[in-house]
Amino acid sequence: MIYDLSKIDIMYIPGVGPKKAEIIKAEAGIHSYRDLLYYFPYKYVDRSKLYKVREIDGTMPYIQLKGKILSFEEIGEGRRRRLVAHFSDGTGIIDLVWFQGIKFILNKLNLREEYLVFGKPAEYGGRFSIAHPDVDKSSELNLTSMGLQPNYNTTEKMKRSAITSAFIQKMQKFVFSKHTEPFQETLTQDIISKYSLVSLDEALHNIHFPESPEMLRRAQLRLKFEELFYVQLNILKYTKDRLLKFRGFVFSKIGPVFNDFYANNLPFELTGAQKRVLKEIRRDVGSGRQMNRLLQGDVGSGKTLVALMSMLMAIDNGYQACIMAPTEILATQHYETITRFLGLLPVRVELLTGSIKGKRRQSILEGVADGSVNILIGTHAVLEDTVEFLQLGMVVIDEQHRFGVAQRARLWHKNTNPPHVLVMTATPIPRTLAMTLYGDLDVSVIDELPPGRKPIKTIHQYDTKREGLYSSIRAQLEAGRQVYIVYPLITESEKIDLKNLEEGYEHIKSVFPDYNVCKVHGKMKPAEKDEEMRRFASGECHIMVATTVIEVGVNVPNASVMVIENAERFGLSQLHQLRGRVGRGAEQSFCILVTKLALSEETRRRIQIMVDTNDGFEIAEADLSIRGPGDLEGLRQSGMAFDLKIANLARDGQILQYARDAAREVLESDPEQKRPEYAVLWKELSMLKKNTVDWSSIS
Ligand code: ADP
Ligand code: MG
Repeated sequence: MIYDLSKIDIMYIPGVGPKKAEIIKAEAGIHSYRDLLYYFPYKYVDRSKLYKVREIDGTMPYIQLKGKILSFEEIGEGRRRRLVAHFSDGTGIIDLVWFQGIKFILNKLNLREEYLVFGKPAEYGGRFSIAHPDVDKSSELNLTSMGLQPNYNTTEKMKRSAITSAFIQKMQKFVFSKHTEPFQETLTQDIISKYSLVSLDEALHNIHFPESPEMLRRAQLRLKFEELFYVQLNILKYTKDRLLKFRGFVFSKIGPVFNDFYANNLPFELTGAQKRVLKEIRRDVGSGRQMNRLLQGDVGSGKTLVALMSMLMAIDNGYQACIMAPTEILATQHYETITRFLGLLPVRVELLTGSIKGKRRQSILEGVADGSVNILIGTHAVLEDTVEFLQLGMVVIDEQHRFGVAQRARLWHKNTNPPHVLVMTATPIPRTLAMTLYGDLDVSVIDELPPGRKPIKTIHQYDTKREGLYSSIRAQLEAGRQVYIVYPLITESEKIDLKNLEEGYEHIKSVFPDYNVCKVHGKMKPAEKDEEMRRFASGECHIMVATTVIEVGVNVPNASVMVIENAERFGLSQLHQLRGRVGRGAEQSFCILVTKLALSEETRRRIQIMVDTNDGFEIAEADLSIRGPGDLEGLRQSGMAFDLKIANLARDGQILQYARDAAREVLESDPEQKRPEYAVLWKELSMLKKNTVDWSSIS
């Protein structure tokens, strides 16, 4: 029985013992038989297939060759000393290379013997070689019986104690040999047949000891499905429980402020997408259910206006609203935009940031407490305990990825019932990821830019060609436009980066002596920073040299050129964010990605994606598939319930969709969790959750 397996310690597996068990537990998190069974190989190598030397093309993973060693050669001195065996199968020659154990190899291998060589080929100076290959006498290996060999991840520390991939495989073999009954199912028969899955027992066997590539594929499918199914069941169940627990404030009417604004203050027609999203929000806040909505919209798609109009719904129904931005600059900009939009409407808007102190602060806090402040705009400062609302009904969180789950939770508690929450992000989160991470949030998308925007032209330029770059910048300046020049800032080397920025700043001043240059970086005092931003926004200053502090939100429509230095050092999403700072006016805008000449294949691909598309979702999907979800900003703190062991969010979107459907069906047909046939699911879910922090209660 699989549940009992979670109680059997791996220490008792022959050859393991307390010492090795200790290391395996600490390094790989494998404590019990069950943990071991769910420790899946990260790859398989096909040892039934033989390659020819002439087929090797430099892009291959592991390959296997059959042939003879023509000669040995010892090359180099000291640490560079190595043994090279020139190996041939009659179709070409490849070098086998050893840096260690040279004596041992020379003793073991002979010139006339036929060998099977297995390893990863590399190309160096036009010649192929394999470093530290596995070499066996071909008479001693029966390839057809070797099939797909699993490879398990092991850490350095494990390897030092002889806990290798092969060792783990031996442990697996032992568990399977002891366990002659089928492993108990973790899904219902219904689900298994509906989605054409193999049984857990077959899946576990084949994931560790594949009978065939086809069976391996089906095993992987089953295990990925199971993993994603439980992630989804957890999220959907949590959402349901929350709906039962909390009532949402009902904004029953669309009132005079909203209507007045819509009729008289709106300087332009809303886009179709803005209208649709407002309808979705309107439906939520009128339903009696507490809204928790993620609003995704590419940079410049007009999220602020949607936020403002949602807040007006709250005000018309006697509630206060609050909008929280990640930086002071952004909060200030929201304040300015919103007060400008509202004009003479009877709505009191206040800005609360860390730098607002004394009497001014006191009067804002009083207004918030007595209800006379209708909209409070601020940074983290709004989270402080001294900020007490009379009746907070709507919270907007801008640029969500900067805020952790815990901070969201603090806003929730600013009223006895949680307010409606609208989370806005310009970092498009691919659908698969949003479903997994924010399964508890409904998602709205603004997928349409306001009319009249010209798509930004993106150009890749090598840093060896500066004259061309400067003359195009000059042309834009002469046409009255403004220019951003951005330098990377990465914390480990902050000093060097700052030096780069300072040098860049001096250099730009000397290249453009007839224009005003300003600069902004993270080490400046907020007041200085704001002053420089103001000079740029007002047009006093023509070129802004900055680090990524300008990444989010800042809006200067007259800026039409974004130059990104060392673009190779930025992530795709970040490049896209930066690019979104231009293209906000009617003029043609440009984004120039400056890189060094020598780029890795991956970087070249990333830059090319930026040149090819302006679509933030496409970029986010590409980012996810190049980098994998592990690197995505904010992923850790956003708190996924369980780590994914086998499913890959970049690739398994379709499986995720099915798993979500299945989880939803279960919740719908067994809302009370009483049906006996589903008992196995609830038991498995609580078992999985026992081993993780319950993040969901603080979401
Ligand atoms: P973001 O989604 O990046 O936060 P903003 O809300 O800052 O975008 O909007 C970008 C610009 O587009 C602002 O200047 C805003 O006033 C303008 N805008 C918003 N909605 C529309 C619309 N429907 N038509 C024209 N301009 C719009
Ligand atoms: Mg914005």
